[in-house]
Formats: sequence, C-alpha cells, structure tokens
Amino acid sequence: MSERLFRDDVLFTQRLLAADGLYRGAIDGLWGPITEAAWQGFQSRSRALRTRMGEFDLRSEAAIGTLALPAQAAARASLRRILDGGFQARIISGTRTWAQQNALFRQGRYGNPGPVVTRARGGQSTHNFGIAWDIGLFTGAGGYVTDAAAYASAAQHGKGAGVEWGGDWTGFPDPSHYQLATGDGIATLRMRFQAGLGLA
Ligand SMILES: [Zn+2]
Repeated sequence: MSERLFRDDVLFTQRLLAADGLYRGAIDGLWGPITEAAWQGFQSRSRALRTRMGEFDLRSEAAIGTLALPAQAAARASLRRILDGGFQARIISGTRTWAQQNALFRQGRYGNPGPVVTRARGGQSTHNFGIAWDIGLFTGAGGYVTDAAAYASAAQHGKGAGVEWGGDWTGFPDPSHYQLATGDGIATLRMRFQAGLGLA
C-alpha cells in the first residue's frame, strides 16, 4: 500500500480524491497539475490527522493512509479505543483499487493458487470506496489471532461513534471488518464514487 498504489490507477485516485472534496477536475484518468495538487492536499491532510490523533505501527499507518479522510479519522479513533481496551490490534488492510479487488477475487478461483478470501469483485466491496478497513489481533508473541470471539470482544471497543462493524452484518458477518457508517448500501456508494461525489 504505497503511494504508487493509487498513482498507478489514476481514475481510481481521482475518484478517491473527489470523494474527499479535494479534486474537482474531470475524472479522465490523466495525471495533470490539478490531480497532483489534490494528491498533495490529500497527503498533507493525512499527515495532519496522524499528528493530531497519534501515530500507530507502520502496517496500520500504511493501511490508514489509503482511506478517505473521514475514514482515516474514524479508523484512528476506533483503533485507539481497541488498543486502550487491552487488545494488540493493527489495521492490516484498507482501500483496494477495483483492479486489486478483481485480482483478490481471482485468488483461489479459475485454477489460481491460494484460498478464496472474498466474494466481491471490483466495485462490490466497501474497500473499493475508501471507507473500509480490516483489523488483525495478535498475541503477545506476535501470533495472528483467528478466534472470532476475540474479534467480537475487540469490537465492543472498536465499533460505534460512526464506525460500523462487519460482525454485526446478518448475512455474512465479517468480524475483522470495520467501515465508516454512511447508511448507504453498496449500490449507492458505488454510484457516488463513480460520479466523483463526496461521501454523504
Ligand atoms: Zn474488510
């Protein structure tokens, strides 16, 4: 999740910047001065949030830096509450471009190696709109916790205050997943994102 991630996908970057109200140029896939200025503004606001709200481990910081600004603030506050609750937590993933989501979807399917990890293609996951992140819980020795009950306990701290927890979903609960509570479903989120509209 480097800066290159978004620069390599200019259309996606422009939509993400537009959702933050930082880019008002054409969604045309061309990296010009307006896109560059918006990107610099995004980076600078991201740094300001980190300074104001406190810095986390490198992996969490990399993932948080891929989120839309309101989601960055929500994710930081949520992770802080989880850590204060006594959990060893990190944010292990954030935004995925639609191309990355499609690559993830192909994993474990069509003869590709690895486990199936998602049901969503590009544009079908809230991770594709800059508003979602996943946490990992770790033991004192650094081992990855898979126990769903531990994620449910952590969520008692992590959810609320404008943060929706994937474990509360009735259809396919996802206990490591958090997202900005927008009140909108995938179809509306996708329409707004594609149109370059701001987060509601
Ligand atoms: Zn997720």
